[in-house]
Amino acid sequence: MAKTTGKEAMTTERTVLILPGDGIGPEVCRQVRRVIDWLGRTQGLVFKLEDGLVGGASIDQHGVPLTEETMQRALAVDAVLLGAVGGPKWDDVDFDIRPEAALLRLRSELGLFANIRPAKVFPALADASTLKPDVVAGLDIVIVRELTGGIYFGEPRGISELPDGGRRGVNTQVYTTDEIRRVAAIAFETAAARSGRLCSVEKANVMESGRLWREEVTRLQAESYPSVELTHMYADNCAMQLVRNPKQFDVIVTDNLFGDMLSDEAAMLTGSLGMLPSASLGEADRAGHRRAMYEPVHGSAPDIAGRDIANPIAMLLSLAMMLRHSFALHDQADLLEGAIDNVLSGGMRTQDIMGPGMARVSTGVMGDSIMRALDKLNA
Ligand code: NAD
Repeated sequence: MAKTTGKEAMTTERTVLILPGDGIGPEVCRQVRRVIDWLGRTQGLVFKLEDGLVGGASIDQHGVPLTEETMQRALAVDAVLLGAVGGPKWDDVDFDIRPEAALLRLRSELGLFANIRPAKVFPALADASTLKPDVVAGLDIVIVRELTGGIYFGEPRGISELPDGGRRGVNTQVYTTDEIRRVAAIAFETAAARSGRLCSVEKANVMESGRLWREEVTRLQAESYPSVELTHMYADNCAMQLVRNPKQFDVIVTDNLFGDMLSDEAAMLTGSLGMLPSASLGEADRAGHRRAMYEPVHGSAPDIAGRDIANPIAMLLSLAMMLRHSFALHDQADLLEGAIDNVLSGGMRTQDIMGPGMARVSTGVMGDSIMRALDKLNA
């Protein structure tokens, strides 16, 4: 995406819907608002913020996890920032109105077919991983997962009774050319903006849908992205390579099922859920603008909610992804990521990433420190 600079950046109004949700969602979203205010004050960037309820908070107020009105607002804005949904309070609600149903509806109606998850190890946190520091130090990879197709949605599906009294469960892996090409295009663009290396992952050795995946990705590369170096890997090997030598990868693109597992595996290389952002992107309109939702990988963490100890960094890094992907504000995204890096290097830690000799701080104090680091970087 091209850089937005100067006058254009100052005058463009960007509409953002913030859906804090449940548990620690509102706590981490509070820190996001502070940074957005800061961007307005110091960078002259105009954001029009809207608020809404999602998940359990919406069930409590309206009886459903996402109202029609909130859905329409999500469709109308430039980007959605979501905290997290769910918690024990809503464990017994009807399946159809469970908090997570809101996420599925948002993803499906916004047409968010590409999920982008960076797994980056901040230098100061190399020892937080369960892997040896030298395996993960400096790790910076991105997994692009197809999000709205494949085996989670394919038909036929279901459980049926068999004449012998047994039962049969069926799910179907289906991908079309278009579904493969549109997510691969995002992956190629992501790779082109980084080191120019993309690894496409499937099981072409045993699955026809995998063979099609490999052929279509290869064709797209030849047609439109000849400068990106494309390799292919079977998903089982990728799972192994991610723990053996994760730094061999730059960008990985894969289907919904394999992406579900591989992105969680890659996430854990970094050591903490509280550090991991994600972006989900939809089709680009004529002006090149994509519908988009940004959210941390973690859930609502009911075990620590309301105690001001949650790590706000995953949410703030999701904001950085929004600045980059929805608004091409790369300099401001760099500033925010740089501020977070500096605060971690200075030894500040929320409890989830605490290490020996470090200073344990609350959510609020972590936010304060990041604001101060932003001021310093911007001075
Ligand atoms: P979780 O991610 O909420 O928490 C897992 C563990 O990580 C907990 O011990 C928690 O305290 C810790 N943790 C998570 N985020 C943290 C942060 N920012 N700072 C510090 N510690 C953090 O997963 P869970 O416990 O399996 O699920 C809790 C609820 O969240 C459930 O209702 C689940 O359905 C929901 N959930 C929602 C989403 C989402 O909204 N996208 C994703 C996953 C789970």
